[in-house]
Amino acid sequence: MTRALIGNIGRYSLHDGPGIRTTVFFKGCPLRCPWCHNPELMRPEPEIAFTARRCMACGDCARVCPEQAASLANGDRIDRGPCTGCGLCADACPTRALERVGREYGLEELLEVLLRDRLYYETSNGGITLSGGEPTLQMGFAGRLLARLRQEGLHTAMETCGLFSWDTFATACLGNLDLVLYDLKLADPQHHRRLTGHSNGIILANLVRLLAVESVEVLVRIPLIPGCTATDDNIARLAALLRTLGVRRYSLLPYHPWGLAKARRVGRPVRADLATTGMTTSERKRWQRYFGSMEFVAP
Ligand code: SF4
Ligand code: SF4
Repeated sequence: MTRALIGNIGRYSLHDGPGIRTTVFFKGCPLRCPWCHNPELMRPEPEIAFTARRCMACGDCARVCPEQAASLANGDRIDRGPCTGCGLCADACPTRALERVGREYGLEELLEVLLRDRLYYETSNGGITLSGGEPTLQMGFAGRLLARLRQEGLHTAMETCGLFSWDTFATACLGNLDLVLYDLKLADPQHHRRLTGHSNGIILANLVRLLAVESVEVLVRIPLIPGCTATDDNIARLAALLRTLGVRRYSLLPYHPWGLAKARRVGRPVRADLATTGMTTSERKRWQRYFGSMEFVAP
């Protein structure tokens, strides 16, 4: 894979590993978590996001669309069925009400962007984090990028949902990773399948393998989603699992509803039972109690 589809590049990040980092958000994810905070990155192809409050109803998008998918008569502006994601409408939109999510990068082109902030990485013990979406869905490119970042002497991290081929990951990525931020959502395999579209069997097996690798630091992160992952039964089971696996450090990611608006912008349906307010610190601390003396790491 010589090029990768990238949804976004986030510079000056403080939440995706140590120090000041640049986070590369790969497009495409094998899971379909309804609470995803980056739902615009789920699909493995470019798509168009529409922000209604920016639209001045000029009609330029409809005029340039070769598929007649953009229309002023459509309140969502884009008919997702015929839309090919070509981006002509977004290029024509004068107010950025339409934006193309997903752009291809070659390796050296992406590196040039990432290396711009080398000084910040070096003075803060920061580095580069591969995130998404799911970076392992574009494993070949991710592996080559990690190798080049290692050559440059930069700290590397990857955020992953854990659903990948272990052998491919071990060959392509593992040797050039310093830190893996490993998401763990649900203990029950059927519940995991119902909510995300996949069982957790491979995810748990990969976590066990990863924890046995001494050269890479692993931080398990659990998203706290009211009514989904943040239930007494699930959190108690995940805490017990981590203890069994000898995990000493963990992170809890408090729910926030930012992903809901982003999902609507790319025409993705939103579950009505997801909370529209964020989780408070005291709520998060309630869930921390399940993890006993294990070291909590702030996300
Ligand atoms: S991305 Fe292309 S096909 Fe889709 S609505 Fe815009 S112009 Fe039409
Ligand atoms: S081009 Fe942009 S501002 Fe004009 S109608 Fe389309 S979405 Fe609205």
